[in-house]
Amino acid sequence: METIFTRILAREIPAEIVYEDDWVLAFKDIAPQAPVHVIVIPKNYVTNVLTLTESDVELAGRVLLGCQRVGQALGLEKSGMRVVLNCGEDGGQSVGHLHAHVLGGRKLTWPPG
Ligand code: 5GP
Repeated sequence: METIFTRILAREIPAEIVYEDDWVLAFKDIAPQAPVHVIVIPKNYVTNVLTLTESDVELAGRVLLGCQRVGQALGLEKSGMRVVLNCGEDGGQSVGHLHAHVLGGRKLTWPPG
């Protein structure tokens, strides 16, 4: 399944990469909603949390660890951050490749819209 994110993964589209390991790629969101807004994607294709299976257990954990690494790399350990995974239409998912938003650098409000 090709999406804008698989094209970023293949370096066909430029992105500002902030973290990468064997499992995930993390890059700055093109339309940031906070001073820090990074997208973390697994290198293997999965649509979203609703389509995960038992075989994706490590992938899912690696995405969360990737979010932690991004937070550490960008100095959010003390101030905190938010990790968001939009799923499907009502969840507001616009790119059909599982991704976590890492948001921080300001006080975020709750509940989200
Ligand atoms: P979603 O709405 O699916 O949860 O999040 C998709 C995110 O990807 C949005 O925040 C959007 O701004 C970001 N995005 C969409 N296209 C691109 C792109 O080409 N490059 C980057 N860096 N971010 C993108």
